[in-house]
Amino acid sequence: MILPNTNRLTAAQLAEVTAIVAEFGCKIQPIIGTVRTIYAIVGDERDELMINRLEGLSYIDRIDRIQSPFKLMDRRSDLASHRITLGGVTLGEELFIIAGQCTIDPKNPNYFYETAAAMKEAGAHVLRGGVWKPRTNPYSFQGDDKSLEILMEAHRRTGLPVDAEVMDESQLERALAAGVHMLQVGARNALNYSLLRAIGRAVADRTTVVLLKRSLHMGPLSEFISAAEYIAAFGNPNIILCPRGTSPTLDGYRNHPDESITPLLKEKTWAPVVVDPSHSVGKALYVPACALAAVAYGADGLCIEAHVSPSHGIGDDPKQALTPKVLTETIAQAKQLWALRRGK
Ligand code: PEP
Ligand code: MN
Repeated sequence: MILPNTNRLTAAQLAEVTAIVAEFGCKIQPIIGTVRTIYAIVGDERDELMINRLEGLSYIDRIDRIQSPFKLMDRRSDLASHRITLGGVTLGEELFIIAGQCTIDPKNPNYFYETAAAMKEAGAHVLRGGVWKPRTNPYSFQGDDKSLEILMEAHRRTGLPVDAEVMDESQLERALAAGVHMLQVGARNALNYSLLRAIGRAVADRTTVVLLKRSLHMGPLSEFISAAEYIAAFGNPNIILCPRGTSPTLDGYRNHPDESITPLLKEKTWAPVVVDPSHSVGKALYVPACALAAVAYGADGLCIEAHVSPSHGIGDDPKQALTPKVLTETIAQAKQLWALRRGK
């Protein structure tokens, strides 16, 4: 819908607008009001270039799009009935839990094996373990290829599907070759469109699930959903959206907790939402409350960092990881809240 910044377009302006939309196979239908006339674009109005050219005209106030720009991720798309199943859970039917260490320590694999067993015991459906890590400081531990073997060994021992972050195409290939079940796109890479495309292409004919974190710098929700659309466009719709806190931080927390965007996402997209409270608040003490808030806001699941002995962990684990005991209590409370929300 085209809204001019005058009450109606002049004949010359209408001719210019009509010529632009005709290039994209559309027509203009004026809707004449007593004071103001607005102009409907009849046809597929999703072409960015057409919208940009119209928005660039000095006499246009704005364009209100009726059609969603997300052909696949929109709540009204044909994919809306798609369901994602992993670790024995169909998202939306039961509270879905991803849990495990931020980072696998390749020098101490036994911690990860013990954590893996404890995650299973606590009721996790997917085991997370950072193999390659995006670290702010280039001198911090960056991850290790050996950790991929440790992750897959933990999968064999527990039977839990595993989740790991990939940051480039070579890690993507290695993770898929090893059999990683869930690929995590981290907050730093959620706006890396070439990586999103590479992931979409690589998982196109697989059952792999992609956990797409919300970037620290994403503004409008449409930016988050568009990132998912990049992956879905290649054919695999197993995409989960993961709010994990944004920037600037809320003083005292690691990031600005953003679990409250869940109902807004659900109005626009069918994609399940799994909130990561660990990176959002950044301190083990605050994680349970944030996890419960996420469930209250309608999250389909939680992604929580946990470690059998947080003080012996590396990466975020000493600060953020829950002990198995606290994780078990948090999951139990989150399930109660889930049931309450569902009216069960
Ligand atoms: C992580 O999951 O350990 C991680 C680095 O997450 P994020 O990309 O959300 O910072
Ligand atoms: Mn982490």
